[in-house]
Amino acid sequence: MKIGVIGTGYVGLALACLADFDNEVLFVGRSADKINNLKRGILPIYEKGLDEIVKRNLEKNKIDSTTDYERLKDAEMIFICVGTPSLSDGSIDLSQIKIASESLGALIKNTNDYKTIVVKSTVVPGTTKNIVIQALEKASGKKAGADFGVCMNPEFLREGTAVYDFLYPDKVVIGRYDEKSSSTVTKLYEFYGNKVPTMTTDLNTAEMIKYAQNAALASRVSFINEIANICEKFEVDVYEVAMAIGLDSRIGPKFLNAGAGFGGSCFPKDVKALLATAKSVGTNPILLDAILEVNKYQPHRMIDLAKQVLGNLRGKKIAILGLAFKSDTDDMREASSIQIINSLLMENATVKVYDPQSIGSAKKIFGGSIEYCSSKDECIKGADLCMIVTEWDEFKQINLSEIRCPIIDGRRVLNPLSVKQHGIVYKGIGWKNN
Ligand code: NAD
Repeated sequence: MKIGVIGTGYVGLALACLADFDNEVLFVGRSADKINNLKRGILPIYEKGLDEIVKRNLEKNKIDSTTDYERLKDAEMIFICVGTPSLSDGSIDLSQIKIASESLGALIKNTNDYKTIVVKSTVVPGTTKNIVIQALEKASGKKAGADFGVCMNPEFLREGTAVYDFLYPDKVVIGRYDEKSSSTVTKLYEFYGNKVPTMTTDLNTAEMIKYAQNAALASRVSFINEIANICEKFEVDVYEVAMAIGLDSRIGPKFLNAGAGFGGSCFPKDVKALLATAKSVGTNPILLDAILEVNKYQPHRMIDLAKQVLGNLRGKKIAILGLAFKSDTDDMREASSIQIINSLLMENATVKVYDPQSIGSAKKIFGGSIEYCSSKDECIKGADLCMIVTEWDEFKQINLSEIRCPIIDGRRVLNPLSVKQHGIVYKGIGWKNN
């Protein structure tokens, strides 16, 4: 199948995997520089294994990239994978969706073949029907369901494991507007075989499933963080508690790691968007509000622990290990590290940072106000305190014999007892001996 993909971020680029299954993939982006790089196999993001897939299929001429929507005229199916960030009030910014839909509508106006438009971006219920379809119909002068098809196919991949998640998803959800396009999308995903459950729903349900899923995951993180803060008061290790409750088959072990709070391009913005949408339709989403409130507090817990160790932070050298919102990605959107570093700077501390992938992103955020290091050892050397903020594997290998300063572990990367055996002061979110 000839497939078009609008948006070359984490979700759009993961669709490069489709080129390995007898499809041709044409990426459409806004930035000529990024598109030229993509043509040479240079990706604008870091995602494990993705560059090999792109390079392999570039060589076979099964992947191409352009800034010109006209080149989509031969595409049978076009995925919309543009960003849906938060507006300042937390509600969803649908401007990228609207512009992409209008551009596609203009393309459909001048083509006679039936195209299936698939919304993959995360959008609040009602968006595909009220924004995408309306823009497509207005710009094309044609009718959805008759002249072109529309589906909403939410994406559940995690950054850091995007390729694996795309190839081995837990489920596929296809929200359909018309029968023909949902059959075409179902056919595209036939390569999953019958191992992956597929649910076909209406458009609003598919949109809602994505939000409900992210809210459920974020609520587990905020729940265990709240429990962690209580645990500390009773000299209880929250990781022991989480391990035990996770053994209950009704609960399960995942997303129960207490720490410095969740970040990234999805959980914060999606919970905020669901909250704003819920309020706009007159419901009172108390729990969604609480998920965000608990999360806002966690980076401050890291600062509290730093003050417990050092007292006044003025003039203290703080080494930050990890900037990305999670390991195996370079994404710093809404990362806890940003709030932690800003708070440290407000306290007039000196901040040195190291991250295996995110130094470039950090420079755009902090400029010259912090020091950037090219290794964890360089970062820790001479520091008064080390804070671990991202759970990168390489931080598990820190040579404790070389460490001269206290450690605050925001992701429980280290074993507290081994750290203490080396005579190092250890503090962590939900650790019993803080
Ligand atoms: P991103 O910001 O990394 O990428 C979006 C891309 O779309 C950018 O490169 C932008 O330049 C491009 N774009 C915007 N308007 C365009 C236009 N008119 N024409 C061509 N390109 C255009 O976003 P992302 O992380 O890939 O997420 C995309 C969507 O998928 C969002 O709605 C997000 O919530 C959702 N999602 C993200 C993830 C994730 O882990 N990142 C997972 C599941 C779903």
